[in-house]
Amino acid sequence: MLAFGTLVGLLFPPLAALVLETHRALSPYFFTLCILAGFVVGHVNYLLFKRVVSRELERVVGSMKGLLEAVEAQQGEVRDHLEPLEVTSSDAIGAVAETFNAMTEAVVGRLEREIEDVRQRETHFRFLTETMHELVCLHAPDGSIEYVSPSCEHLLGYTPEEIYRQDPLTRVHPEDVLHFRQGRMNAFSHEALSSLTYRAVHKEGHTVWLETHMKVVRGGAGNHVLSTSRDVTERKVAEAALERSALYDALTGLANRVLFMDRLTQALEREKRQPEAGFAVLFLDFDRFKAVNDTLGHAAGDALLHAIGARLKDCVRPTDTVARLGGDEFTVLLENVADIREVLGTVKRIQEVCSHPYDIEGQQVTMTASIGVVTSEVGYVRVDDIVRDADIAMYRAKASGRARYQLFTLALRQEVLGHLTLERDLREALLKGALQLHYQPIVSVESAQPTGFEALARWIHPEHGSVSPQDFIALAEDTGLIVELDRFMLRRACAQVGTWQRRYAQLPPLTLSVNLSSQSLATPDLPRYIAQVLQETGFRARDLKLEITESTLMKDLGAVGASLEEIRALGVQLHIDDFGTGYSSLAYLQHLPVSTLKIDRSFVDQMTRSPESAELVRTIVVLAQTLELKVVAEGIETTTQFEQLRRLGCEYGQGFLFAKPLSPADVEHFMESSELLLA
Ligand code: C2E
Ligand code: CA
Ligand code: CA
Repeated sequence: MLAFGTLVGLLFPPLAALVLETHRALSPYFFTLCILAGFVVGHVNYLLFKRVVSRELERVVGSMKGLLEAVEAQQGEVRDHLEPLEVTSSDAIGAVAETFNAMTEAVVGRLEREIEDVRQRETHFRFLTETMHELVCLHAPDGSIEYVSPSCEHLLGYTPEEIYRQDPLTRVHPEDVLHFRQGRMNAFSHEALSSLTYRAVHKEGHTVWLETHMKVVRGGAGNHVLSTSRDVTERKVAEAALERSALYDALTGLANRVLFMDRLTQALEREKRQPEAGFAVLFLDFDRFKAVNDTLGHAAGDALLHAIGARLKDCVRPTDTVARLGGDEFTVLLENVADIREVLGTVKRIQEVCSHPYDIEGQQVTMTASIGVVTSEVGYVRVDDIVRDADIAMYRAKASGRARYQLFTLALRQEVLGHLTLERDLREALLKGALQLHYQPIVSVESAQPTGFEALARWIHPEHGSVSPQDFIALAEDTGLIVELDRFMLRRACAQVGTWQRRYAQLPPLTLSVNLSSQSLATPDLPRYIAQVLQETGFRARDLKLEITESTLMKDLGAVGASLEEIRALGVQLHIDDFGTGYSSLAYLQHLPVSTLKIDRSFVDQMTRSPESAELVRTIVVLAQTLELKVVAEGIETTTQFEQLRRLGCEYGQGFLFAKPLSPADVEHFMESSELLLA
């Protein structure tokens, strides 16, 4: 028994422990019995015992083996593998057998419950994987699919059977195969959960974006990877749309400013590394685009922009970038250009292609582009400077006549930057009402008495000092600020001269002449504005004279005719300024609502030196008299001129001989000084 107990203990220590445990109460007798039996039966019975025990042990070991197999297999009925020991005796061996039976019964019961549990859990998981939208896959070490959930049919169009037969890579978008492979390899070699987003190809050919989470499952049959994937196509499409709207112009589909600047930054960096990779930027502005918008409407304007964008794209290589910065401003980035000839070749092609008529809503529209060109040869550091210089060149192209191009030079930058800051300053001066008014007396030639004043704008720039009117008036005309300037002058001058009229009430009412540019004349509400100023300042209409140059009248007569009539109807007089320089036929003057001609300074200047000029002045005066128009001679500087004009019968004069344009304070001084009366 000792040997048997020891053997059992040696072979199955847990069993021995259990045996001792179960028979704890009996153990002292059991051991005493064993020792006694050992001594009494001893060596004699050893061989007999050995035979019996071996047989019993074989059965026990066989049962245990079955049990272990069942446990290992975790399937089938554990009980099938395990037969209870036949209890053949009521002795100790019988007791051991009974104990063993009880023990196996307990173990088997527990195992069966556990197996049932596992089965139930498996059913639950199977239910989950088979009903959820996510795709669940078990990837074998060789990359094949060992299990796929039925959702594959809904997600990818393939049945599980089709999936098992295919190489998984054939379902991955060709551009994402590498990325997918890498991700799957990572999953196999790392414990942690890994994720991957890639494009799969649906059985019907369209792309499905999958977001996949993968986890390695270690096991005897090699590592497997378990993955769950969900369809994130909608999210990806939305993301792509967002990205597009951040980088592309919605109207034309061209790059927007952000993308253009990004590409330009890259081109600039590349050019720094490889100077032979030169680039050029074109800045395009379509001449008179606004007119299309105003006359045909915004939808037509949009259609036109779209068509322009398409033509521009056709003119460049696929590697070049065409962008719309906004409005009718487009930019083109030409990369890897060998020399300027190549760039100018493209510029000319663009101008040619863009000038063909556009069919917009059944209407034929023609457009021309002004193009500024800048190349990397200038040597840039910042991309903003490149675009600014291209813009500067474009402005110059536009100013030199439309449908032109201009290559940027450093001299141009100096010139235009000065112009730009001056424009900003003039705008500010107007906003603050910082422009000043000077008044030049207009004198009766007959009596040499001042009859009125011409208001002239003066601008004292905070840094540059006094700016010549020729310069800032031209700037204001270029930028459209002239309309505001003229209106400011009109309002201020009416108020000022009104005050003087009251102050010098003993004199005949002083008149006021105000200059009007052609742009001011073209504003339809001008008559209303004038009426309003007159009403607000209380200035009498008949004392106001508006000076319009002869060239303005000639150019825009058709357009402003009605306006002139309206102004005339207010009681305001119209004067033709700089008369004699506009080559107008004198005959038509009688049809215009004008009351006075101002003979240009150049004739007065020449009068005393050239008989022809004197004759011309005489002719104008005579003609004016027959047409019942008054005449003012400008630029009288000498008494000789003055005398000659008096003899010719010219009624009014203006010039340095009487006074230069004066500040309001100087006007008052002039009016009150005794030198007022010229003999
Ligand atoms: P303008 O209308 O012909 O004005 C007369 C110009 O001749 C003034 O030049 C005046 O200073 C100058 N002048 C007058 N008498 C003499 C003289 O005896 N000798 C010489 N050499 N010059 C004389 P200014 O003030 O420089 O103005 C130049 C032009 O700027 C004006 O020519 C007018 O066309 C324009 N301008 C001035 N103020 C305004 C304004 O408020 N609106 C508009 N639209 N134009 C204005
Ligand atoms: Ca004038
Ligand atoms: Ca003049």
